[in-house]
Amino acid sequence: MSLEIVFVMVGTTHTGNLGAAARAMKTMGFTTMRLVDTCSHLSAEALARSSGANDVLKNAQSFDTLADAIADCRVVVGTSARARQLAVPLLACREIADEIGSLSQSLPDGEKVAMVFGQERSGLSNESLDLCTRLLRIPCNPDFSSLNLGSAVQVVSYELSQAIASVPLGAPIPMPGKWKGSTEAVDASDNSADPDDLPATSEAMGHFFDHLDRVMISTGFMNPDNPRLLRRRVRRYFEANRPTGNELAIFRGILSATEKPRNR
Ligand code: SAH
Repeated sequence: MSLEIVFVMVGTTHTGNLGAAARAMKTMGFTTMRLVDTCSHLSAEALARSSGANDVLKNAQSFDTLADAIADCRVVVGTSARARQLAVPLLACREIADEIGSLSQSLPDGEKVAMVFGQERSGLSNESLDLCTRLLRIPCNPDFSSLNLGSAVQVVSYELSQAIASVPLGAPIPMPGKWKGSTEAVDASDNSADPDDLPATSEAMGHFFDHLDRVMISTGFMNPDNPRLLRRRVRRYFEANRPTGNELAIFRGILSATEKPRNR
């Protein structure tokens, strides 16, 4: 990552929010926090709410003014729950993240971008906003637009993390039926794949549907003389979500248990 993202907290009054902000930042790979006129960032509550992001809080630097806190930053983004009458462009969070993502390609390593967060009740003052080059708003319900401070830091840091790859995207965690919803072909060279974690075969599905039919009839759920669309609907559902062999075995087990309930 070439850019350093600096999270500036201005006027924060709830110490727990500083902990929550530190936690939010660190989960997304950011560690630089600066403080302007805030409550204590090292209180027991702040440390507890940081859930282990103590280092972010301990390394946070305090400044007398916002101007001092952002002096070395090339881009300064103010965040606000409300649209304000301002000369600087107001953009949605993702748009700003994308802009910063592009900048990160061109700016030399270590250049700083500030994200400025305001006081819980009143937000950023006009004087603070005057120091910003951009204004960011997290799009949300127009009638209920104010996020908790820690939540706002989480959303902003998440969008930035995606735009500048501050955290590894990583391989998706393989799950049974990992092919589901994936447009990627199953790697044919992966001989280790358990066949029961693959979509069940049509033959196995056929046995399952026969079994389901039997149970729907024997329980009186379906009238075999008048199945209407039921059989087809059920079939279509399972075909659209074709289970793996392992999952099918569970469904078959449930059907068998329905046929022969064992007394517990
Ligand atoms: N009435 C205040 C709300 C303050 S909420 C205001 O007008 O901004 C405290 C801080 O959380 C805000 O200063 C801002 O930094 C952040 N925040 C909360 N909701 C936000 C939103 N929808 N978009 C961007 N930032 C938000």
